Amino acid sequence: MSGENRAMLVLNAGSSSIKFELYTVVDEDRIITDEDLEQRFEGQVEGIGTAPRLIARDPDGHILIDERWAPGPPGTNHQVALKRLTTWIDDNLGDAQLIGVGHRVVHGGPVYSTPVVITPEVLEVLRTYISLAPLHQPHSLAAIEAILYTRPDLLQVACFDTAFHRNHPIVADQYAIPREYYEQGVRRYGFHGLSYAYIAHVLPIVAPDLSEGRVVVAHLGSGASMCAMKARQSIDSTMGFSALDGLPMGTRSGNIDPGVLLYWIQELGMDVKQVETLLYRQSGLLGLSGVSNDMRLLEHSDDPNAAEAIDYFIYRINRELGALAAALGGLDGLIFTAGIGENSAMVRERVCTLATWMGIELDEVANLHRAKSNRCISTDGSAVQVWIIPTDEEKMIALDTLRAVIPGAQ
Ligand code: ADP
Repeated sequence: MSGENRAMLVLNAGSSSIKFELYTVVDEDRIITDEDLEQRFEGQVEGIGTAPRLIARDPDGHILIDERWAPGPPGTNHQVALKRLTTWIDDNLGDAQLIGVGHRVVHGGPVYSTPVVITPEVLEVLRTYISLAPLHQPHSLAAIEAILYTRPDLLQVACFDTAFHRNHPIVADQYAIPREYYEQGVRRYGFHGLSYAYIAHVLPIVAPDLSEGRVVVAHLGSGASMCAMKARQSIDSTMGFSALDGLPMGTRSGNIDPGVLLYWIQELGMDVKQVETLLYRQSGLLGLSGVSNDMRLLEHSDDPNAAEAIDYFIYRINRELGALAAALGGLDGLIFTAGIGENSAMVRERVCTLATWMGIELDEVANLHRAKSNRCISTDGSAVQVWIIPTDEEKMIALDTLRAVIPGAQ
């Protein structure tokens, strides 16, 4: 079979939705590049468990299918959804044949520092990480199990949000708590690894001067974190054991003194579920502003609390930038990515202005330019290059899955 006849499916499964992208393989020599994959469809199955609906679009955004069905018996929902999705894909692929599925899996635990082909043994290990990411891991595993059940012919690959950080130094991996907890898995895993891996993957082409340098990547979306990279390897990140740490996010608190949790539990009598809801769903930009978790709405709001929430967001990014630059021993590049990083000229401008002392000099005109493309937004004289590089986690998963499918591929 030639490359053009092969297709890869990328799945990002949540509790009630599964986002997907489908790529055909353009060329399959052993050196895998971005040009080897062409996106054919993207979309999602949403309303899983309540009112399932499959929507798929072509790369120009034209809707190819919009179909609803009744939810099945409990426990079968991911299976029914993925059966419908893969059948629709098979019917719409023309000559091509689906050969592999790459999954976004939040947690690869202390073990996995690279993507891994799913076997029964691997699945068993991944189940033991449910306790490390109880809000996310079960959904990825449900999608893997559903494909195993409905399409056992397909090779499946797990791509982890933690993997990119796994080789960071031990000082970036520990908390100052008794060692036995580290052995039990209480470590600073770091997340958004697929986004950072994509940036590291394109850096030699997009910004070759930074490829071997000291770079901080700011992934600012509804989830937000920053990663310090030396020669495209993660040496530290703002997220730790969970995706709660570091920067404030849309609804997550980010860094908080653990004493606050003790106070809530001991003095205010909150239970674990209440604390979880507070930290994951009611905090961050939403909690501080009382207006919204959406940066676009905050930017346009007249409410002083919305302005204060943005001030706090910028302040924390600036602090973390200083800390990560210290971990790197200096800074050659700053890269903005994800929804806010790619689209909010205001956030970029304020972060860069606060970092003038580091030698950052923003090109204000370039910063205001609105194209969704890789671009340098610092002046020629800036001591630190500043870039916008749109992230593409799905593409990274597709590339990793393709590498796993082609023996000896790099
Ligand atoms: P996720 O993938 O984590 O859901 P995204 O990377 O899509 O998140 O980022 C979502 C965030 O990006 C939201 O806070 C949204 O307000 C923000 N965003 C998107 N477009 C803009 C824009 N034009 N200006 C400011 N913020 C934006």
